[in-house]
Amino acid sequence: MTKEMLKFVNIDKETPSKRQAETRKEDFKEIYREFINEKAKEQSSRCSQCGVPFCQVHCPLSNNIPDWLKLTAEGRLMEAYELSESTNNMPEICGRICPQDRLCEGNCVIEQSGHGTITIGSIEKYITENAWNEGWIKPIKIKNEKKQSVGIIGAGPAGLAAAEQLRKQGYNISIYDRYDRPGGLLIYGIPNFKLEKYVIERRTKLLKEGGVVFIQNFEVGKNSTLDELRKKHDAILIATGVYRAREIKLPGSNLKNIFPAMEFLTASNKKGLGDKVELFDNGTLNAEGKDIVVVGGGDTAMDCVRTAVRQNAKSVKCLYRRDKENMPGSAREVFNAEEEGVEFAWLSSPKEFLGKNKIENIVVNRIKLGEPDDSGRKKPEVEENSEFTIKADMVIKALGFDPENLPKLFNSKDLQITKWGTLKTDFYTMETNLAGVFAAGDIVRGASLVVWAIKDGRDAAASIKNFLENKAIRRTKVA
Ligand SMILES: Cc1cc2nc3c(=O)[nH]c(=O)nc-3n(C[C@H](O)[C@H](O)[C@H](O)COP(=O)(O)OP(=O)(O)OC[C@H]3O[C@@H](n4cnc5c(N)ncnc54)[C@H](O)[C@@H]3O)c2cc1C
Ligand code: SF4
Repeated sequence: MTKEMLKFVNIDKETPSKRQAETRKEDFKEIYREFINEKAKEQSSRCSQCGVPFCQVHCPLSNNIPDWLKLTAEGRLMEAYELSESTNNMPEICGRICPQDRLCEGNCVIEQSGHGTITIGSIEKYITENAWNEGWIKPIKIKNEKKQSVGIIGAGPAGLAAAEQLRKQGYNISIYDRYDRPGGLLIYGIPNFKLEKYVIERRTKLLKEGGVVFIQNFEVGKNSTLDELRKKHDAILIATGVYRAREIKLPGSNLKNIFPAMEFLTASNKKGLGDKVELFDNGTLNAEGKDIVVVGGGDTAMDCVRTAVRQNAKSVKCLYRRDKENMPGSAREVFNAEEEGVEFAWLSSPKEFLGKNKIENIVVNRIKLGEPDDSGRKKPEVEENSEFTIKADMVIKALGFDPENLPKLFNSKDLQITKWGTLKTDFYTMETNLAGVFAAGDIVRGASLVVWAIKDGRDAAASIKNFLENKAIRRTKVA
């Protein structure tokens, strides 16, 4: 930012007249917007249009990245936005939270040649944020309302993407979700510092204005069975995600102040949304002033350590049983956490939790990596006589998630699952073994990424459309 621009920052203090201040604030916005425009153009123009779009190949949505970079470099922002949103229902969300280092940016040819990647995610976010500011993003308008309806179970990214695609086709869409707000892990899992909540709320509001009906606090399995919903709708999409937290079964794991990651993150997210959260307000789920230990090495663990830092924890440690090179989480997230002061204890695994009533100390084993196991990864093995003890006021378990038992939960014994507990679907149509019941997102893939959930939601929507069209034709023939 130039000195010229900076002088507008403290505008309220400098000018006596409110009107004058408002005018100058507008000037600032204009200058700032111009500055950002120039930065985005400058970055976009670094794309060599190499003809081998590895970035596009490694984007799960096959976003046409080189073309929207070219349009941005030329200042043709409306066209850039139209192209970007033609393959992605939430480009501003992916731009913020995709692990770009593993996807588009990590495979950018300029990055591979050692010149630093083009910041594809930031530009994607910029193009869509600009479109919101300019008022180009409008609710869906339907020309031909169809009579058929689709019931979607789960308002996470997979459910939301499918809802938008199907609503555009004129179908009546109802989304059922057991949470009080739509968004799934976007709203209650991913922390605000990575994805601001208004960004999700803006999207769900747009869908509501476009006629999608949201039915919150509605748990399938409790408030209705799957069969009841099947009778009500012409097709069903199950997009319920995976929520069964993996457990640590060790001596002392029942002590107080040992929490699953989602309990900690949901409390923090609810607080950020302005809700009253008793367990946070009374200090139980608040890391402030405490020695925090997070067990796990994935992105959820990184979100926990970084949230604890922001809650002013006294110290934050992360225990992971493999080394840094073998962490499942994004390297960028680990880098960010280290920079914020999180201490990583690589090759360490808890052996026992100690305390009178609540957690006080953890006995930790040192680990060495042995021969590769079935998965091809080196097997962690305990080093003998290597124990050490660390102090902990709160332990957060972030060891990953498995699917809930949906056939049991939905009272639908016939619904087929895989050996991992995910839903079994046809590879091409995404239909389960129950006619007219489709599935998408984490409940099919296992814990994955937002961008993959969007891709699945879009693909399932295309299949559901085919199914409904055929059903309508069959009905006409019978009549
Ligand atoms: C802490 C955390 C951080 C993450 N960070 C990232 C990240 O930075 N980038 C990234 O790409 N991915 C990230 N992920 C992964 C990503 O959030 C998921 O892959 C994605 O949200 C899956 O989308 P989904 O629609 O399949 O399921 P979800 O987002 O889980 O949504 C499922 C919805 O179904 C509802 N539901 C479940 N059961 C029922 C029922 N019986 N009845 C009614 N409703 C039900 C739930 O309430 C929920 O709203 C993160 C995950 C976690 C846990
Ligand atoms: S959706 Fe994700 S992977 Fe695809 S271009 Fe955007 S940031 Fe990259």
